[in-house]
Amino acid sequence: MASLWVPLYRRELSDITSSHYFHSQSSGQSMDPYTAAAPPTDEWEMEIDAIESPPPPPLLKEPPKIRRLDESVVNRIAAGEVIQRPVSAIKELVENSLDANSTSINVVVKDGGLKLIQVSDDGHGIRYEDLPILCERHTTSKLSTFEDLQSIKSMGFRGEALASMTYVAHVTVTTITKGQLHGYRVSYRDGIMENEPKACAAVKGTQIMVENLFYNMAARRKTLQNSADDYTKIVDLLSRFSIHHTNLSFSCRKHGAARADVHTVATSSSLDAIRSVYGVSVARNLMKVEASDDDPSSSIFEMNGFISNASYSAKKITMVLYINDRLVECSALKRAIEVVYAATLPKASKPFIYMTIMLPPEHVDVNVHPTKREVSLLNQEIIVGKIQSAVESKLRKSNETRTFQEQTMELLSSSPLVTRKDSHSSPSLPVSTGSRSQKVPVQKMVRTDSSDPAGRLHSYLDAKPLGEQESRNSLTAVSRSSVRQRRNNPTEAADLTSIQLLIREIDSNSHCGLLDIVRDCTYVGMADDVYALLQHNTRLYLANVVNLSKELMYQQVLRRFAHFNGIQLSDPTPLQELIILALREEDLDPDSNENDDLKKKIAEVDWEEEKSCFQAVSAALGNFYAMHPPLLPNPSGDGLQFYQKSKPAGNPSDRESEHNSITHGFSFKSMNFEGNDKEMGDDIDEELLSEAKSAWAQREWSIQHVLFPAMRLFLKPPASMATNGTFVQVASLEKLYKIFERC
Ligand code: ADP
Ligand code: MG
Repeated sequence: MASLWVPLYRRELSDITSSHYFHSQSSGQSMDPYTAAAPPTDEWEMEIDAIESPPPPPLLKEPPKIRRLDESVVNRIAAGEVIQRPVSAIKELVENSLDANSTSINVVVKDGGLKLIQVSDDGHGIRYEDLPILCERHTTSKLSTFEDLQSIKSMGFRGEALASMTYVAHVTVTTITKGQLHGYRVSYRDGIMENEPKACAAVKGTQIMVENLFYNMAARRKTLQNSADDYTKIVDLLSRFSIHHTNLSFSCRKHGAARADVHTVATSSSLDAIRSVYGVSVARNLMKVEASDDDPSSSIFEMNGFISNASYSAKKITMVLYINDRLVECSALKRAIEVVYAATLPKASKPFIYMTIMLPPEHVDVNVHPTKREVSLLNQEIIVGKIQSAVESKLRKSNETRTFQEQTMELLSSSPLVTRKDSHSSPSLPVSTGSRSQKVPVQKMVRTDSSDPAGRLHSYLDAKPLGEQESRNSLTAVSRSSVRQRRNNPTEAADLTSIQLLIREIDSNSHCGLLDIVRDCTYVGMADDVYALLQHNTRLYLANVVNLSKELMYQQVLRRFAHFNGIQLSDPTPLQELIILALREEDLDPDSNENDDLKKKIAEVDWEEEKSCFQAVSAALGNFYAMHPPLLPNPSGDGLQFYQKSKPAGNPSDRESEHNSITHGFSFKSMNFEGNDKEMGDDIDEELLSEAKSAWAQREWSIQHVLFPAMRLFLKPPASMATNGTFVQVASLEKLYKIFERC
């Protein structure tokens, strides 16, 4: 079996280590890395501190003499650059553990990292014979020729990190390689072993302990001691590692603390990792974003990531960027994204971004920064531009589906009959880390995204209409089976000219604006007995579900004509007689024979005019199957009076005519509750009430789960619906937001 570990080489690597100086020069910066202007910093980085800068030369007449610096001075100066503060040491150590194929990396920190940093992994370990040169400068197992850099996959390659740590701290390494009975422990100072490696008990992998960081750099130590946020930077760094390397487990804790501040287990999804590290409030507000290009004349790259939406708000931007699996910064890209957010979502202009960019390795120069914090990309401008447009278009699209806050709901929820079910479908509030929490508590939001069924109007207004879960389940089961039965739509309609003509009329009469609304709308909830509230893009509509369902059924009858199951009657139905009976039923005085001739005339079924006959039959079936309000009055409106035993509020059929009048003009009637539930108390006919509640709940369920999905698939809304009150626009989000923003 091939060995997992690779021998360490001592190499002349000065050509690699010096290249960032040339890079600095070419970008117009000072060649002196110690006095160079600091590049833009992020949370876990810090400006190069100038404390170790050589003093300015005194003004002499004679040119000053040039001396060769002592090697230990050179090394310590260089070390101060690689290890700028505790978090930079931890980044190097964790990257070494990643390069060692570890599956678990644990960090312990004392006194912000100044007293102790300990990184343990379960990787392949270090060979005994490599220990003597492990901490010398420019010793590495990851590179042997300069050309290797072109295709380097490991995080490290400079062979400088461990060496640097030994120049500014005390380093102890404990390691064991596969198949060994025991491990070795050895301490280092200024690049060399302080003693022979001692055999010791060890668990798989390597543990590196860095003690008393900057013990020999008084000024640096002092500045760091005064800064309280090093541990925050360390936690932040580990968080960034753990959302990308999801197949590893990470932990980070303060020395002596029982609880870890970062603790992740291996998972297959970055979103899960983000949820566990940054909290539910961040994860739930993220959208997937992608972009790619495969054109050698412009750029070759693939970008994947998650970006925050309009509901995410934070005090500062979090940008976790990986380029070819390397945690880096790219100020140009960061700025480009910031600009897009500021322009598109000014209220959410401090986004959370997690982005991975993959490029051919030869297009990335990883050696432009001593701590490898930045990389330089071929065609960077083009890539940044393409990613910027991808982010922009995602934000614009998402802006169309937004989240309403409670204030829009107050009108509806003020009724005494309504109980808010806070805990019902909303997940518990996340334990938020740092400033990344959203302003509006989850349970106060009504989500109207069609992909998120939680938080519909129904669940906010409805105080368990069925009483117990059991009936809800049976209801679900009934309705599901009905969906299943109806799902197969025949691809070919009946082979009858009349039906074909009627279908063609439907198609040519279809209103494309309404069609868009029907196809892409999100059902919000029922606003009253016949009007449903819908969201389409940034607009809210009221839609008459009776009219819509009538039309849908009519169209479906035509499209499925001759595909229904036939019922064979033993004797043909005396249709004419039945119609006359029905007409008589409607008469106030059924016994009078008045108008009998007229009835007979109406009852004459004209079988000759095929088209109008089928049209009338289809319309009648459509009307029969439409989502009419149940006959029993709606108990959650003022219809509750009807269930009072002492004072029955008339005949249910009166109610129906009332409903019919409602269909012609929208009213918020059912929301004007009288608050009369207390007075009624025991006088309520509970049996009838529960029957009514169940009928209304079943209807609402069917509207949401049967009617709307079916409409999306099959309905061609006729142009007349745009003007006959079937669709009424009630609000446009752009206008509402203008009002909200002024509040
Ligand atoms: P680089 O990572 O650039 O090679 P370092 O100074 O960080 O340089 O590390 C030197 C070498 O020590 C690495 O090339 C690697 O072979 C070995 N090494 C360091 N840390 C570990 C570790 N945790 N597990 C196994 N090998 C390690
Ligand atoms: Mg390294």
